[in-house]
Amino acid sequence: MPYSLHDLLGDTLAGHRLTEEEAVRLLKTRNRDVWDITAAADELRERKVGDIVTYVRNQNIHVTNICKNLCGFCGFGRRADAPGAFYDDPLTVREKALTAVARNVTEICLLSGVHPDYTLDSYTDLISSVREVAPGVDIHTASPDEIAWAAGQSGVSTAEAIERLREVGLGTLQGTAAEILVDSVRRVICPGKCDTATWVRIIKEAHDLGVRSTATIMYGSCESAEDRARHLGILREIQDDTGGFTELVPLSYLHENTALYRAGLAPAGATGREDILLIAVARLFLDNFDHIQVSWGKVGTKMAEMALLSGANDLGGTMFCDDVSVDAGGEGADYLDPGEMQRIAEDLGRVLRQRTTTYGMV
Ligand code: SF4
Repeated sequence: MPYSLHDLLGDTLAGHRLTEEEAVRLLKTRNRDVWDITAAADELRERKVGDIVTYVRNQNIHVTNICKNLCGFCGFGRRADAPGAFYDDPLTVREKALTAVARNVTEICLLSGVHPDYTLDSYTDLISSVREVAPGVDIHTASPDEIAWAAGQSGVSTAEAIERLREVGLGTLQGTAAEILVDSVRRVICPGKCDTATWVRIIKEAHDLGVRSTATIMYGSCESAEDRARHLGILREIQDDTGGFTELVPLSYLHENTALYRAGLAPAGATGREDILLIAVARLFLDNFDHIQVSWGKVGTKMAEMALLSGANDLGGTMFCDDVSVDAGGEGADYLDPGEMQRIAEDLGRVLRQRTTTYGMV
């Protein structure tokens, strides 16, 4: 007898740990069975974290869009001599941080291209200048790829680089640059970035040093369902080892202004079915994660609400500014008022709560 979807979902709700093959099967579902999968994921969400929808009051500060990597899926990074290239010095960043503090944020994300001239000192200077004016705020910055670059430029180990950043005020590490943790895919979508093994090693080093991070997945470009499942499998293995991930942040590929799409190497982003299934399967598969975020800047607020019915429990941040999504074609991706989040949560009969970066309640 083939394993029916009904039995598979029932077993998963009863504690069965999904295999990657089973995750692939769920991700490939195309008919009304999609709703059974989202219903199971929503039930698991309810059991795990209840009816609270969380968000973080945060602000992105984009320090530079000059980037050594020029990933094919990105509409933000560019060469230093390209039109629109910008670079803010630590004083300007400090001014922006002061604006963020006046907005009562609990988190500042320093989110940038990987400037080819950056060294470890560039990162410590930036973090220090924010820390000076925003003492109580979580400074959320530096992906494993940036750590690898800064460490290499300055001739120190990656663990030492993380330690140095922590000493000057790093709160949590960005689990970005993960994209899809399958090297054959990385060679197409982000050949300039560190490989899978390096990403995994650095994120584990951070967790071992007590620096927590998000986990991300950038899906909807040219990866397969098998690649998505492998990626989730790697995240689950890391979480088993370290417990250092705060949440999964699924990032739906925005195709409009990207080289990958122009070259015909990627479709026009994930479909609605894929967005919803990614959230639901992540909730069912990642049994060691409490929090699954939906990124309203990537999928829009209406789709974000559907994701909250499909296993997600977190709306991410207010952001105040998301040039990365706006430059890639995301409309209305720069600020979501908590009042609007409240409307979404209430519409689902749930309660909105402000959280810290590491999911303490504010
Ligand atoms: S995704 Fe990040 S690393 Fe890649 S080009 Fe864009 S800014 Fe640079």
